[in-house]
Amino acid sequence: MRIECIAIGTELLTTRRLDTNSVWLGERLADLGLAFHRKTAVGDNREDLAGLIREALTRSDLILTTGGLGPTFDDFTKELFAEALGVALVEDAGARADMLAFYTARNRTPAQSNFKQVLIPVGAEPLRNPVGTAPGVWWQDPPGHPGARIVMMPGVPREMKRMWEDQVEPRLQPLAGEPTQTLRMVVAGVPESTLDERTRDVRERHGQLEWTILASLTQVELLVRAHDSATLAQVLTDMRPVLGHDLVSVGPGNLEEAVLTGLESRGQTLAVAESMTGGLLSARLTAIPGASRSFLGGATVYSPAAKTALLGLPASLLADQGTVSEATTHALAVATRQALGATWGLAVTGNAGPATEGTEPVGTVYISVDGPRGASTIRRNIPGDRPDVQLRGVAAALNFLRRQLDLA
Ligand code: AMP
Ligand code: MG
Repeated sequence: MRIECIAIGTELLTTRRLDTNSVWLGERLADLGLAFHRKTAVGDNREDLAGLIREALTRSDLILTTGGLGPTFDDFTKELFAEALGVALVEDAGARADMLAFYTARNRTPAQSNFKQVLIPVGAEPLRNPVGTAPGVWWQDPPGHPGARIVMMPGVPREMKRMWEDQVEPRLQPLAGEPTQTLRMVVAGVPESTLDERTRDVRERHGQLEWTILASLTQVELLVRAHDSATLAQVLTDMRPVLGHDLVSVGPGNLEEAVLTGLESRGQTLAVAESMTGGLLSARLTAIPGASRSFLGGATVYSPAAKTALLGLPASLLADQGTVSEATTHALAVATRQALGATWGLAVTGNAGPATEGTEPVGTVYISVDGPRGASTIRRNIPGDRPDVQLRGVAAALNFLRRQLDLA
């Protein structure tokens, strides 16, 4: 079944309002084992909406719209569907009674324009709106489209949700597919393209399933949906050797959580020293509830003076080696670990740009971990602009620490 969503409203095309209705509806469809094949936002423009309605009628079996059911000149969703399908709009007695009752209950009288809202295309059914004045429309088997269904709902999220839950979802229940489950694998330290190549064989072996790769600056998510958990368990078994140590976690969660869980399960603690990342590493860790069970804290030592005053690095070391160097980063990891008596010290230095300082190019990042088996330091070249380098630097640091935990 091909399901399409049309979100109607000029404000949805500007920065003023996000189309949250279609996101919510997508979630509700997933509960029914259904999914959109397409969704569009369109302004309150007659030609644009009429054109989209004609297209949707040719390609979709179920069309869900939100918005454009109100009383004003820019509300014409029902009118354009009726026009496209060659039928008239007629006043619905029940909808009219509901609307009048709505106003009476509030000691108000409806405006003439409110009567426009109770016009329903011939052959369609009104959907009551218990929390507003604009009824929705349920239209099954519209002329020339046997088997198709059109559902028009208000744009106001509260009204749309209530209508969906009370009246639309029950009508769609017979169409419900088998509920799907999602396997989510979080991977770090591997570019999206590399992950794509590495996982190709396994994905092809399970080619009947729906696969998605979602990359962010800090991690890549590999998602796969299936109707039964046994299939997903097999996918995970096949994927584990392919992903190896780069598999951070399975299920909900992210890289930060995996690091904190890794520390906590070992009864270990972490101290950090941040230069280039300016506190971002600590912020990402402390965003996770319960971080205090393993994250002790650390220092944002941005300037050479801070590195000396807060963590006791010799001024001569900084002068000789520079800030962005293996020796300095190593010394920071050791110093922060000692200062807090932590199991692990993690330090990050680097040049996030835009200006180059010293001899190291923009994007150079040093990460050092000091732990029970001594210290080790890596140097990375991280692409991107300043915020990208900082956030990717945080992810690289967390991932390096995660690997050290496994090795210790
Ligand atoms: P309408 O029914 O088009 O008059 O919309 C009424 C209200 O609902 C306005 O405040 C809209 O900004 C809001 N609204 C309409 N469509 C959406 C949508 N797709 N997502 C979130 N809010 C919406
Ligand atoms: Mg509108």
